Amino acid sequence: MSHIHSFEGLPVDFQDFQSEIQVDSPGRINLIGEHTDYNDGFVMPTAIDKKIYFEFRRNGSDHLCRIYSKTFGRGFEFDLRKIEKGIGWENYIIGVVNELLLLDRKLSGFDCIIESQLPVGSGLSSSAALECGLAGGLNALFQLGLDRIEIVKLSQKAENQFVGMNCGIMDQFASAISKKDHILKLDCRSLEYDFIPADFKNCQLLLLNTNVSHTHTDSGYNSRRQDCEDAVSIIQQQYPAVASLRDVSFELLEEQKNQLSERQYQRCSYVLEENKRVQESAIALKEGKLREFGKLMYLSHEGLQHQYEVSCKELDFLVDYSHDKDFIYGSRMMGGGFGGCTINLIETDQVENFLQEVKPAYKEAFGIELDSIIANADEGTIVKK
Ligand code: ADP
Ligand code: MG
Repeated sequence: MSHIHSFEGLPVDFQDFQSEIQVDSPGRINLIGEHTDYNDGFVMPTAIDKKIYFEFRRNGSDHLCRIYSKTFGRGFEFDLRKIEKGIGWENYIIGVVNELLLLDRKLSGFDCIIESQLPVGSGLSSSAALECGLAGGLNALFQLGLDRIEIVKLSQKAENQFVGMNCGIMDQFASAISKKDHILKLDCRSLEYDFIPADFKNCQLLLLNTNVSHTHTDSGYNSRRQDCEDAVSIIQQQYPAVASLRDVSFELLEEQKNQLSERQYQRCSYVLEENKRVQESAIALKEGKLREFGKLMYLSHEGLQHQYEVSCKELDFLVDYSHDKDFIYGSRMMGGGFGGCTINLIETDQVENFLQEVKPAYKEAFGIELDSIIANADEGTIVKK
């Protein structure tokens, strides 16, 4: 019998919610560096100005926790002494609590309300926003003394182990550590990072949401990860020092090509090339060479489409559609793939015209509404008392 009890509608005693802690927990975009984080590579994400908002209060109980999602109009309660897996979103919450308990942090009963501006399952990482926001809020509510990197790591672990999604560290890192008006450039092996000013001049970052959710195809994500790990194991037989694709050069990959299946070779080629593109993108952005950066975005998409095979027809349609538009400098699918959003670097004064054109075209092609979001680089998790 499950000890997790779900309920519909806001509980009566949540109606006048006197919160002790509030947390603004952002979603994230990734400019370039897709599927590189779990290969110890490089990424260029940032938190955005679309967030999940949390309110927390202690509820006087030793062990009763109650969470309510305004997005879903539902909540659930669980017992700190009887941690077990639930279903769907429950696991992001209980997973984080479980990690805190495993770290021997003392929690007691709490209530929490969340309200979100983030589309779910669209590649803006509502999941990381949920995990890091919860961890950050409980850290403040119970004065657990965790630093931001600890919060990032335990949130990722919760998603890996409790949800069963083998994501890398990028999403949680971006959601928690970002700086307003900057892009993170993160080395996912050493966790060293620097900030690049998000100066897009006459351009903006426009997200186009296919409204095709990737959530049912997470196994595609995990299997891509498996392909990379399998390739590394094969290369390790001759080169034991190779711990991940980060240690594989283009030359070594060519040398090992015959040991790998065609599919493994394509996956690895993509990852090596994408890491190189991140380095080049960082330089291009620092130097204000937006057209150059845009070309790298297109190349990233091509690799994701043909070598890594994580795109889908809706994403490809949107990227293709932008190709002959001179006012769009670059476009690519963003996030794990199989749906979600494209990210587009587009001249600001062309956004409205472009949307008027692309929305009906997308609707006609797929019978699905296309949503758009202007994403601005924003601060990582903000905890307020
Ligand atoms: P993404 O992170 O790209 O949005 P994921 O599939 O990784 O997509 O995570 C989405 C999941 O996170 C949802 O299916 C749900 O379980 C949880 N989630 C996201 N936002 C909310 C919310 N506002 N309320 C409750 N759960 C949420
Ligand atoms: Mg996610």
